[in-house]
Amino acid sequence: MAFEGLTERLQKAFSGLRRKGKVSESDVRDAMREIRLALLEADVNFNVVKDFVKTVRTKAVGKEVLDSLTPSQQIIKIVHDELVKVMGESAVPLNTAPHIPTIIMMVGLQGAGKTTTAGKLASRLIKQEKARPLMIAADVYRPAAVDQLVTIGQQLSVPVFEMGTDHDPVEIVRQGLAQAEANKNDYVIIDTAGRLEIDEQLMNELSRIQELAHPNEILLVVDAMTGQVATQVAEGFNKQLDLTGVVLTKLDGDTRGGAALSIRAVTGKPIKFVGQGEKLDQLDIFYPDRMADRILG
Ligand code: GDP
Repeated sequence: MAFEGLTERLQKAFSGLRRKGKVSESDVRDAMREIRLALLEADVNFNVVKDFVKTVRTKAVGKEVLDSLTPSQQIIKIVHDELVKVMGESAVPLNTAPHIPTIIMMVGLQGAGKTTTAGKLASRLIKQEKARPLMIAADVYRPAAVDQLVTIGQQLSVPVFEMGTDHDPVEIVRQGLAQAEANKNDYVIIDTAGRLEIDEQLMNELSRIQELAHPNEILLVVDAMTGQVATQVAEGFNKQLDLTGVVLTKLDGDTRGGAALSIRAVTGKPIKFVGQGEKLDQLDIFYPDRMADRILG
């Protein structure tokens, strides 16, 4: 289950506080030490942990908290509110274009769930807005990726523009956009190539697609299971592309929480969606407060 270890550790820290009727500064210090370790073990970015613990400690040792009738409850609330803050306060909706089509570009490393998420997003837009999306298969390095997107398109009755794997992805995107224009599609979702790691050629190609398409959204898809690595990947992509948001996939797995708690704070980019399964309807809006509730258990 996601966040299991983190939830357990945090609850342990809180139960230490709850046992005391009166909470002293040194009790808070002990609890903070445990919270710090819990976050580090959950693979949260070191600087994020440092700032988090410092903020919570400063607020928790305030006179109005320690002298109150319910200090432990108040400290739990402080932790909750800081978790929400570190994840971005509130849900951030998709950007839309003033004139159709809204162009959404999916980027990320191979295996993160980019192609699946492209389909999930199309499915969501159809359900929520009766949208008429077109998907463009611009991942030409993994032959199966084109077939995979075509199959997803068939399942959803969404047209997929593809030119196989022998063309320049930028040209594929150019022609795909022309087709969307002609067919008056309201959304275009571009599936781009991933690599096992960030490399210059991949980034150049993605930059060229960005320049051509001027997407309203450039969504980075990262695998939540990879913790700090997901955060580093997000930093890397964010340096080269005008990312507008992040999709965290595989939150149905036993992810520790590091990615969810670090990415916003490190990159400044909001997590917009979370993937919670392999099926095409398993994409949810990311609500920081609900995620904090889930983490606290
Ligand atoms: P891409 O290489 O980034 O395009 O990745 P794919 O879309 O091909 O996904 C890689 C694998 O991850 C596939 O087996 C997907 O079914 C799986 N996957 C994607 N998103 C999720 C998710 O939210 N939860 C789970 N459990 N699996 C996912």
